[in-house]
Amino acid sequence: MIVTFLSAQNRRTIEPAPDRSEGDGPHKRLIIRGGTLIDGTGAPPRGPVDIVVEGNIITRVASVGTPFIEINEERRPKDSTYEIDAHGMYIMPGLVDLHVHTGGPPKAPEAEYAYKLWLGHGITTVRGVPFSNFDLSLSEKERSSKNEITAPRMFSYHRPGSGSDDWKEGSVNDPETAKKWVRYIARKGADGMKLGSYPPNIMAALLDEAKNQNLGSTAHLAQSGVAQMNALDAARLGLGTVTHFYGLFESMYEANDVQPWPVNMNYNDEQHRFGQVARQWNLVKPRGEKWNALLNEFLTLDLTLDPTMTIYAAGRDVMHARNGDWHKEYTLPSMWEFYTPSRESHGAYWFYWTTWNEVAWRNFYQVWMMFLNDYKNMGGRVTTGSDSGFIYKLYGFGTIEELELLQEAGFHPLEVIRSATMYGAETL
Ligand SMILES: [Zn+2]
Repeated sequence: MIVTFLSAQNRRTIEPAPDRSEGDGPHKRLIIRGGTLIDGTGAPPRGPVDIVVEGNIITRVASVGTPFIEINEERRPKDSTYEIDAHGMYIMPGLVDLHVHTGGPPKAPEAEYAYKLWLGHGITTVRGVPFSNFDLSLSEKERSSKNEITAPRMFSYHRPGSGSDDWKEGSVNDPETAKKWVRYIARKGADGMKLGSYPPNIMAALLDEAKNQNLGSTAHLAQSGVAQMNALDAARLGLGTVTHFYGLFESMYEANDVQPWPVNMNYNDEQHRFGQVARQWNLVKPRGEKWNALLNEFLTLDLTLDPTMTIYAAGRDVMHARNGDWHKEYTLPSMWEFYTPSRESHGAYWFYWTTWNEVAWRNFYQVWMMFLNDYKNMGGRVTTGSDSGFIYKLYGFGTIEELELLQEAGFHPLEVIRSATMYGAETL
């Protein structure tokens, strides 16, 4: 199965974005006039303001009056080389999506598709975990930073063992190779590592060396390794971000250590993988001793939680996900084909999905959301990531759903925007 996947990937890789033929800027002195500003710190909206941007830097935010009163032209910043009229509009920082993939054949063969859906939703920074294969992820990042393509700003994270042709060591199975690999990706210009639930000695080596090389880290603590590497174990070793929810519940079980799987459990059967994982919701005690201790330790360790609630949301109501208003106009037929129930496509586990599964997920979300909201209320950093491109979730649209889900979790809209802007930027 793995061999087949790798050879298929070598044969067919995603089409890089075409050279940029649209858009303008950066400008010598851009002034955005008259809008209402939401700055992303949690501060309330204020306006009208004129915002001066010189090159790529905001140099001045000038309050130019009060609502419903004509603006005194004398007070406005002058000497623009370019202007945008934002009267009657809101202005906010671009959204940061900390968990993306660009897709690839057969489902989404052209990178431009994801890039434009991201930009169209106001997402101006993305963290690829990874975007696609090693070389292309880094070359697209480079082209984006030089303004050669129409794409958000890109931060490129990579899986241990991945590399160009000049990485000769293969997969990472021991601490020495782990450190070698981290130094290798730092040389290659990567921004960080996307980790799994590695055994403790390898995890420690990866995270130690990443600190030396000033690289970021985010981990999907997969069920296959979570029994020896849960979120608390990883955070204590210096992990930067826990993405998804894997390893969180396992860090605060009341009466279990390993999740009590059914005897016929098989991780490779996605009906089991995604049907069973929600059944942790009643293994923890919300606001109990372990819950509170975990939150406190995460806060002390400065751990970022990047939940990507959107990518599991179909689990609680698959009909809702399948009937999204945007599918007709924006979802590629090849994308739709990939979503369609199948034992092989990742995240298409709907061949035996019942209300019994959906109710487990709804309960799971309630507990998960409470945990995230508690962390936010203590001053913890909860960010936005989408992981779109699977499970009926489309690039851009999934990120917006993540904002909605944060609000459902108890975040005020200004807290949602802070998660999606300032906290995302801080994490990177
Ligand atoms: Zn992912």
